[in-house]
Amino acid sequence: MHLVTLIKGDGIGPSIMDEAVKVIDASGAKIQWEEAHAGLGAHEKFGTPLPEETMASFDKTRVAFKGPLTTIVGTGFRSINVALRQKYELYANVRPAKSWAGVKTRYDDVDIVIVRENTEGLYAGLEHYLTPKKDIAESLAVVTRSGSERIIDYAFKYARENNRKKVTVCHKANILKYTQGLFLDVARETAARYPDIQFDEKIIDAACMHMVMNPQQFDVVVCTNMFGDILSDLTAGLVGGLGLIPGANIGNDAALFEAVHGSAPDIAGKNLANPTAVIMAGAMMLSHLGEQEAAERVVKAVEKVVNEGKYVTPDLNPQSKAGTIEMGNAIVDAME
Ligand code: ATP
Ligand code: MG
Repeated sequence: MHLVTLIKGDGIGPSIMDEAVKVIDASGAKIQWEEAHAGLGAHEKFGTPLPEETMASFDKTRVAFKGPLTTIVGTGFRSINVALRQKYELYANVRPAKSWAGVKTRYDDVDIVIVRENTEGLYAGLEHYLTPKKDIAESLAVVTRSGSERIIDYAFKYARENNRKKVTVCHKANILKYTQGLFLDVARETAARYPDIQFDEKIIDAACMHMVMNPQQFDVVVCTNMFGDILSDLTAGLVGGLGLIPGANIGNDAALFEAVHGSAPDIAGKNLANPTAVIMAGAMMLSHLGEQEAAERVVKAVEKVVNEGKYVTPDLNPQSKAGTIEMGNAIVDAME
């Protein structure tokens, strides 16, 4: 039995997480969910967006399955997601984007995994005004050698363990000579230790163009925090949108699985949200827990339903009459 902290989250969170839990429970994996709260809902209920009980649960389970959280201003937290990533040093944010046979997009052969540094860079949170008038603002990007080594090594190790051929580092070392320069130096040093994996380096702006024009040349991509944030939405766009992309946040002794998308308040409570991203995040969690067979069962069932295009949410098929719940049910039914 694996004990997992379940945070359903805000907006579309509860509805997609209910479907994901249903699918995972049907996969044969033995999961015991411990429900905890975070985000706007927690703030309204407990007066804090990140209650002690939630941290206590994650401290104990070390594995969390989380829906999207609405970030609220003026609670002492810039972002609960960032707070969790930093506290548990969930330094690797892994976001796979793969074309689906049944989802029509510009390309049908995209298969890119973004490995985003998750704890430092421009999102380290060192941002402030320099003047009382608030007319000059400053943000510090922090890049450390040890932080760069662990994320880049993770990317190469991930490539090796998942039969991937190539790691591309995307950077801006030509302008940001120290922060990005350090990251690039570490990438080159690490690449030398993985002779079996091809290595490529691209300047981030050019990488965006190449990724849109010729995405097939990318395999595993590693970059600092903000570039990874932006590139992973780009890859989401290449394969059919935000509703499809899962994300794993991995640390040395804790991991958190979620969708890349946010709480999408515009479609919350309407049975319209696509549960695919969180269900695929659930499959990543099952692999992480060593439940490989269950993970594959989930992925196959999702692929079947998405590619068939019948019981899918309207973002995938505007003609479809199915919603979040019908799609979840279809995925459970498709499981072998
Ligand atoms: P947040 O502030 O929490 O990030 P958001 O409004 O920015 O919320 P996102 O999830 O980032 O929401 O997504 C932007 C838009 O993409 C949403 O408003 C929604 O229309 C669409 N979208 C996101 N996720 C899904 C999903 N799972 N299914 C369908 N549409 C989605
Ligand atoms: Mg958003």
